[in-house]
Amino acid sequence: MSQQKQFRAIKGTRDILPPDSSLWNWFERQARETFESYSFRDIRTPIFEDTDLFARSVGTDTDIVSKEMYTFSASSEAASHDGEQMSLRPEGTASVCRAYIEHGMHTLPGNLKLYYSGPMFRRERPQKGRYRQFYQMGAEVLGPSDAPGIDAEVIEMLVVLFRRVGLEKITLYVNSIGCKECRPKYVELLRVELRNAKDQLGPDSQRRIETNPLRVLDSKLPEEQVIIERLPRISDHLCEACRAHFAKLKDELALRDIAYEENWRLVRGLDYYTRTTFEVTAAGLGSQNAVCGGGRYDGLVELLGGPPTKGIGFAIGADRAILSIQESGKLPHLPGLAVFVAWMGLKAYPTAVAMARKLRERGLIVELPAEEMKFKKSLGLADKLGAKYALIIGEDEVASGTYTLKRLSDANQQKLAEPELLEYLESERRGL
Ligand code: AMP
Repeated sequence: MSQQKQFRAIKGTRDILPPDSSLWNWFERQARETFESYSFRDIRTPIFEDTDLFARSVGTDTDIVSKEMYTFSASSEAASHDGEQMSLRPEGTASVCRAYIEHGMHTLPGNLKLYYSGPMFRRERPQKGRYRQFYQMGAEVLGPSDAPGIDAEVIEMLVVLFRRVGLEKITLYVNSIGCKECRPKYVELLRVELRNAKDQLGPDSQRRIETNPLRVLDSKLPEEQVIIERLPRISDHLCEACRAHFAKLKDELALRDIAYEENWRLVRGLDYYTRTTFEVTAAGLGSQNAVCGGGRYDGLVELLGGPPTKGIGFAIGADRAILSIQESGKLPHLPGLAVFVAWMGLKAYPTAVAMARKLRERGLIVELPAEEMKFKKSLGLADKLGAKYALIIGEDEVASGTYTLKRLSDANQQKLAEPELLEYLESERRGL
C-alpha cells in the first residue's frame, strides 16, 4: 500500500473551529457595532496588492517589508507591466489609503471614517499569539483635519470596545514621535549617540543604527536596556507644533477619563507614523501581549500619490484579543442549540419539519434529524448535542395536536398546543 500524505495546515496558519469560531463571530460583531456607533463604515480591499504599495508605505527598511512579505510574480495577463510583483497584505492601512486615492474619496465631506476586518500575512516566527496568517480589525480616519480630538476619539472607541468584550486588564501606552520637521533632527541625534555605544549593542541594533535608529528603542534584549535608557528622548526634542498636539491629546484623553501611560520608546515598526503613536497590551498573552497598535500617519496619502491628507488609525490583533478573553475565563453567553425535534413515525415527519421551520423563523437554533430514530436514541443525541429542550412529536401528538416539550437539564415536561408552544419557546429564546 502506498503511504498517503497527511495534509496539515501550513506552519503559522491555523483552523478556527467551533465553538471558538462562535466567539470570533461574537467579537467581530461587537467591534463592528462599536465602530459603527462612532460613525465608521466598512471598507473591503483585496488581500493582495502591488508589492511597491507596501514597500513605499510601510518602508523598505522595516522587518515586514524586508523579510516578512509573501511576494509572487503576477501572471502576464494580470500585470500592467512585465515582472510586476504582488504581495499578500501584511497590514491594512496601505490598502485603505490606496483605495482612498483611487476612488477620489478626498472629495467626500468631512473626515472619512473607515474600518476593516480580515486576514493579514507576515512570515514571522510562529509562537503563541504570533501567526503567519493572523486577523486584524482596524479603523482609519482620513481627511483635512489632524485635531487631537480625532486621535482621542479613536482611542476612546478602542477602550469602549475592549471594555464591552470584557478585556479589563489592559494598558494603553501613548507617545508622540514628532513630524518631518523635528523627527529627522532627533533621529540624527539618536544615531550619533548609538554610534558611540555601538560595541555594546547586538548585531540587529548595530545594523539599525544606520537603517532605522528609532527601531533600536523597540529592542527587548536585556543587555541593551541600560544603554537605551540613557538615550535622548523624543519628548525633549519635539517641535512646538508637535509638543502642543501631544499636550492637547493628553487633555482630550483626560476629558474622556481614559487612563494611559506615556512610553517614550513606543516608536512602532512601520515607517509611516507621525506624531501620535499608541499601543494597548492585555493580560494572559505572555511575550506577545500587544493587542492593538496605531498612530497618526499624516503625509502617507501624499506619499502614495494622493492629495495632502491627514490620517490616523489602529489595528487590533483579533487572534490575541480573543486569546486574552479566553484566558480571562470570562466568556460571553452565546446562544446554543435550543430545541432538538425528536420525531418518530412517518406521519409525524411533516409536522416535525413544519415545527422546526416555525421555531427557526422565531430565532431559535433547532436541530431536526433527517432520519427516523427511536425516542430513546433521539433524546440521547439531543443531550449529547447540548440541546436545552427536546420537542417530542409522535403520531399520537400529531393526532391530538399537543406536543411534549422536555427540558433536558431537569427532565421537566409540559404538554402544549402549537400556539402556546411557539409562544413559550419564543419567550425563552433570550436565555437559550
Ligand atoms: P501592527 O500592524 O504591527 O501595528 O500590529 C497591530 C496588531 O496586530 C498587534 O498589536 C498584534 O495584536 C497584531 N499582530 C501583528 N502581527 C501579528 C502576528 N504575526 N500574529 C498575530 N497578531 C499579530
